[in-house]
Amino acid sequence: MTAQTFDVIIIGAGPVGENVADRVVQGGLTAAIVERELIGGECSYWACMPTKALLRDAAALRAVRHLPGASAAVTGELDISAVLRRRDAFASHWKDDGQAEWLDSAGITLFRGEGHIGSPRSVEVVGADGNIQVLTARHAVVIATGSSARIPGIEGLADAAPWTSREAASAATVPDRLAIIGGGVVATEMATAFSAFGSTVTIIARNGLLPAVEPFASELVAKALRAGGVELRLDTEPTHITRGEDGEVLLQLADGTSLRADEVLVATGRKPNTTTLGLENVGLTPGDWLTVDDALRVVQHSGAPVEGEWLYAAGDVNRRVLLTHQGKYQARILGDSIVARANGTRIDDTAWGRHAFTADIHAVPQVIFGDPEIATVGYTVADATRRGLPIRVIEYDLGAVAGAALHADGYEGHALMVVDDERKVIVGFTVAGPDVAELLHAATIAIAAEVPLDRLWHAVPAYPTVSEVWLRLLETYGH
Ligand SMILES: Cc1cc2nc3c(=O)[nH]c(=O)nc-3n(C[C@H](O)[C@H](O)[C@H](O)COP(=O)(O)OP(=O)(O)OC[C@H]3O[C@@H](n4cnc5c(N)ncnc54)[C@H](O)[C@@H]3O)c2cc1C
Repeated sequence: MTAQTFDVIIIGAGPVGENVADRVVQGGLTAAIVERELIGGECSYWACMPTKALLRDAAALRAVRHLPGASAAVTGELDISAVLRRRDAFASHWKDDGQAEWLDSAGITLFRGEGHIGSPRSVEVVGADGNIQVLTARHAVVIATGSSARIPGIEGLADAAPWTSREAASAATVPDRLAIIGGGVVATEMATAFSAFGSTVTIIARNGLLPAVEPFASELVAKALRAGGVELRLDTEPTHITRGEDGEVLLQLADGTSLRADEVLVATGRKPNTTTLGLENVGLTPGDWLTVDDALRVVQHSGAPVEGEWLYAAGDVNRRVLLTHQGKYQARILGDSIVARANGTRIDDTAWGRHAFTADIHAVPQVIFGDPEIATVGYTVADATRRGLPIRVIEYDLGAVAGAALHADGYEGHALMVVDDERKVIVGFTVAGPDVAELLHAATIAIAAEVPLDRLWHAVPAYPTVSEVWLRLLETYGH
């Protein structure tokens, strides 16, 4: 057993842990990072990057097929092995040497193994060879251990060797028939990808499709999935699943119907990676999501931070927002706050202040990379209504914008903005349509900067771009 001391110890080298470590080292502190699998985390190898690589070629092909001249040049089909090879490259062939080199160059000390909190400020790292190293933190321990796929307790499911998002993202072959349980982002994105590869896809979703986004956006996705041959079995769920000796999976559903498939993908949410962290040693419950206060300090069931103010949690594991970019936002601010506290400098944690996590509440952007793309930031109409805000909802047909009509024949899309009608600022924005992802940041800026509508009127969108929808929305509002 060896012992070492660092200013900050981070458990989990996913995108969030890496960013906390980088930030504290840039602030002049020493940092150790502990990783039990691959440096880069879920996002790099089994989530954001590989799944978007699976979707990109089919999206480009769809775009071409909506232009008469260009579509005439496309005479073949999607080369699936080329798509999978490109995906493999984006997942760095599931090797993390490049990221290990980066940690080294950034001055962050890596410990490979399972991180376990033994006592306050003390982390044991259990290596693959059973060797234990004990690390002590002068200022902070940050838990950034992320989340994993949650497997629901459906009878027979666990024995049927289901795919989770990991197997879908890293699939080496395309199943002829794919059943997907769940109707959220992972389910719709993977349905879009695998149906484009030729799988016969069925989605079974008891809460409907994409229930968290504006209804118009989920309806456009449902329409496109059906048009692409995906069967949607909504408002029902599997009750019993078996995989036969021939490998075929039989799913029995609550509505009395059944379904046969070659693989079944479970996309029913996430669970926190906290079971083996030693949480019981600091008064917390293993397996729970970590509740944090406004400074991302881990709090106990009583609501008080863990004594001594040394334990923080960032990224998926604190369940604030399960998205890489938002976890990295938390990481940057948390890293800077730890440095400021260590140096005794002022913390500015007022709303939108340097050390406040305000955007986590009011301005979370997300793109769902299906067909069509959905880009959304801030509150939906339902969120704003729940918050009792005095809102006005403004909508516009995206296909009626000159830039969209030019972008693709038969362009179909829609945009909606939620305006706080007392403060005259935008608090929510959703757009769905082909290639709308890059429209999102303008909305994120408008919301985070609380740009008054009277000033937004002077932000003139270039003609003829899809961004002219901003002008149309403002005109519809009454400008
Ligand atoms: C299929 C899919 C697609 C997604 N696509 C997107 C997308 O396009 N855009 C987006 O913004 N988000 C996307 N997400 C969400 C994104 O992957 C997560 O929000 C992000 O990975 C969270 O980062 P993290 O660092 O908190 O956790 P993770 O990426 O989960 O990293 C945590 C790390 O901690 C390690 N670890 C866990 N426990 C221990 C321990 N005890 N000791 C040592 N190490 C430990 C793990 O091995 C892992 O490397 C997607 C998620 C899924 C499932």
